[in-house]
Amino acid sequence: MTDIAIIGGGPAGLAAALYAVRGGASVRLLEELFAGGQIVKTHCIENYPGISTGPDGYALAAMFEEHARQFGAEPEYSGVASLSLTDEKKEITLISGETFEAKAVILCMGASPRALGISGEREFTSKGISYCATCDGAFYRGRTATVIGGGDTAISDALYLSKLCKQVYVVHRRDELRASAVLANAAKKTENITFVWNSTPEAFLGEDKLRAIQLKNTKTGELSELETDGAFVAVGIVPRTELVRDQVALAPDGSILTNERMETNIKGVFAAGDIRNTPLRQVVTACADGAVAATYAIEAIRI
Ligand code: NAP
Repeated sequence: MTDIAIIGGGPAGLAAALYAVRGGASVRLLEELFAGGQIVKTHCIENYPGISTGPDGYALAAMFEEHARQFGAEPEYSGVASLSLTDEKKEITLISGETFEAKAVILCMGASPRALGISGEREFTSKGISYCATCDGAFYRGRTATVIGGGDTAISDALYLSKLCKQVYVVHRRDELRASAVLANAAKKTENITFVWNSTPEAFLGEDKLRAIQLKNTKTGELSELETDGAFVAVGIVPRTELVRDQVALAPDGSILTNERMETNIKGVFAAGDIRNTPLRQVVTACADGAVAATYAIEAIRI
């Protein structure tokens, strides 16, 4: 039986794998797509201590993966179909049909971008609407792009797009950004970034592709149209708990509740990174969560 199954190969999962194998556990690290999770969508990570060059997310993810491999943690690129967590032996079934057992499981499935859920959003996704500026920004080179949201993702997306696009609008529902000061100040100083304050998107408009966003002023209720070639939705994240939400205890926002050892309500089941209920979602906190989870998972299986 595998000692520890780690589900998800983002920073939390890769750090957990590194700590688990260094701690002498046998590990299966399962990642459905590519290592790195959400950071591969980030064009510059300048706040990971010790790496002041500000690598892009792919580069940092590759370093994490290589580091985990050096100690013998080999990621398996395999989707997980189901998890049975409540018994002492945890059962993991892969999309390939293979089932295996583990003594402990660390849930590191991360989070996905939240949709706005408004008219035209589905219709124009990939036809003008994107949830990843780093992936799709180049399509709007020399054109107009609009970012929706006022958090770290929105503002770092706006800064990235400002280098490619003629004009970038940031539509935010308040008149104060949630993003960290360093990003907010940089965006406010960038000439081709214009803030559209106190506004929420009501609908995405167009014919065969996006043409404009209908906006509502949150103070006056007034409706207007903002012409744009691209719209980048950055209104937060949704923890990816679909495999476990009937088994582990969740917070009201859908994230997994843990204690400071990253233990969930189920013995032998841990959660780490963006999927868990945490006050700060950064690469450094995801890595720290992974390290803590692996340490106590090892302790749990040895007791
Ligand atoms: P976030 O911090 O939750 O921000 C979401 C933004 O979208 C907020 O400004 C929010 O407005 C707005 N919003 C939410 N629902 C909306 C709606 N229905 N209509 C219009 N606007 C809406 O999400 P995030 O920016 O994706 O960041 C997620 C986590 O990752 C955070 O912990 C963040 O710090 C971290 N992160 C860090 C970095 C970095 O450090 N460089 C980069 C990316 C992400 P309000 O402000 O009014 O609530």
